[in-house]
Amino acid sequence: MDMTGNGSDALGLLEAALPSPARRTIDALEEGGYESWCVGGFVRDALMGRPVHDVDIATAAPWQEAARVLAAAGARVHETGTAHGTITAVVDGEPIEVTTFRVDGTYRDGRHPDSVTFVSSIEDDLARRDFTVNALAYHPRRGLLDPFGGRGDLEAGVLRAVGDPRRRFEEDALRILRACRFASQLGFALDEAAYQAAVSQKSLLARVSRERIARELDGFVCGDHVHDALLATVDILSFVLPELVAMRGFEQRTPYHIYDVLEHTAWVMQHSPAEPVARWAALCHDMGKPAAAFTGPDGVGHFYGHAAVSVALATGLFERLGMPTAVREAVLALVRRHDDVIEPTPRSVRRALNRLGGDPGLFRALCALKRADALSQAPRCAPRAQLADELVEVMERVLADEGAFTVRGLAVDGRAVMALGIPQGPAVGDALQAALEAVMDERVPNEPKALETFIRETCCEQAPSSKEPSCRSTTP
Ligand code: ATP
Ligand code: MG
Repeated sequence: MDMTGNGSDALGLLEAALPSPARRTIDALEEGGYESWCVGGFVRDALMGRPVHDVDIATAAPWQEAARVLAAAGARVHETGTAHGTITAVVDGEPIEVTTFRVDGTYRDGRHPDSVTFVSSIEDDLARRDFTVNALAYHPRRGLLDPFGGRGDLEAGVLRAVGDPRRRFEEDALRILRACRFASQLGFALDEAAYQAAVSQKSLLARVSRERIARELDGFVCGDHVHDALLATVDILSFVLPELVAMRGFEQRTPYHIYDVLEHTAWVMQHSPAEPVARWAALCHDMGKPAAAFTGPDGVGHFYGHAAVSVALATGLFERLGMPTAVREAVLALVRRHDDVIEPTPRSVRRALNRLGGDPGLFRALCALKRADALSQAPRCAPRAQLADELVEVMERVLADEGAFTVRGLAVDGRAVMALGIPQGPAVGDALQAALEAVMDERVPNEPKALETFIRETCCEQAPSSKEPSCRSTTP
């Protein structure tokens, strides 16, 4: 048994991070006669001092035995993946995955092992794991088990495959994207062999379901080190995100930019809040630039209308990945609007809110995107980040005042409009829209009396040649 890295610092970190329900689960299994270890992300993250989210336990117990022992110790047990030897024990309200030591059989589809074989040693179980930093095991008394040098790779920040990366990616192509995701989450670099294998075998990703691809990409875009990871793995990700290819090396010949479109995008992602809507919007916002670009006679680059092309590309991307509608809609709205000019005035902010369907959360997200965008251009543009913060302040005031920025928020409704003599039909909507424009521009207060007078004066004039009342647009 290769027991290395039992330095007291490392063990102290693990000891401190191990939640007591996990410790009790291990103790119960061992008292039942079954060797058991903490494995996977918990060991890795605890050693790095990162927050730990769940603890996986590997055990010599067949799953039926693990279930029996843990139920006898008072846990609720769910049969969550018994075909692969996995049960979930709920201990003090904490779900803990317990999996029998196993090796995976062949992967005919490059995704799921066709079979698993249960084995008796933890070393064999660790050998089936994807990267050395994920192939560490920890036991509160026996310490750290590190047969593949995961500790050293953790310190060096390297993602190295356990065994031959070509074979490991062939077995399960998802590992190629897991590598990219870990690069983004941990700030690690793929070692040369893993990188070469991932690039040359990226076409295996065609076998992976879009749900699993989307899940890894969500993790990738939300990583703390996404800037470095995007630039480092673009030639791998290109197979599932072909939109990246035109962005790489596409120079922006304007006084506002110092980066090509890809690196600018990487910075905007890095400066955006680490959640999927914000990060996907950052990834997509300038995707249309290469297609919309032209160089003026003075040598300056222009990208008129690029947001619309970005929306088209992002629409295709989200369709392909089967992204949830709510995420897709929010991202597309942000991409569509990212370049809109918004002044820090209530009038301009109300109009922007209106274009976003009246959703203050989306407006805040748009401001965050604008802020990140400003921080990712030439240093001279950085002060524009402040403008984004100002816009949020103005929005808070707009939300608190009596004004409206959607038809729903008007102090009159369709019924009131019809009571003024406007016939049911499109004219009612036109009158409400005209009233909304007037309120957003602060020409009319958002009060029933004032709005009725306004509508009567502007929309109920009898056009000389028509029998119907006609509505005049008041749009400036
Ligand atoms: P996180 O939970 O933070 O995403 P993790 O490393 O715990 O990271 P999981 O997907 O929870 O990742 O998997 C737990 C462990 O199982 C991994 O650490 C790794 O050892 C192993 N593992 C998971 N997926 C694979 C895979 N596709 N191929 C090989 N080993 C895998
Ligand atoms: Mg995990």
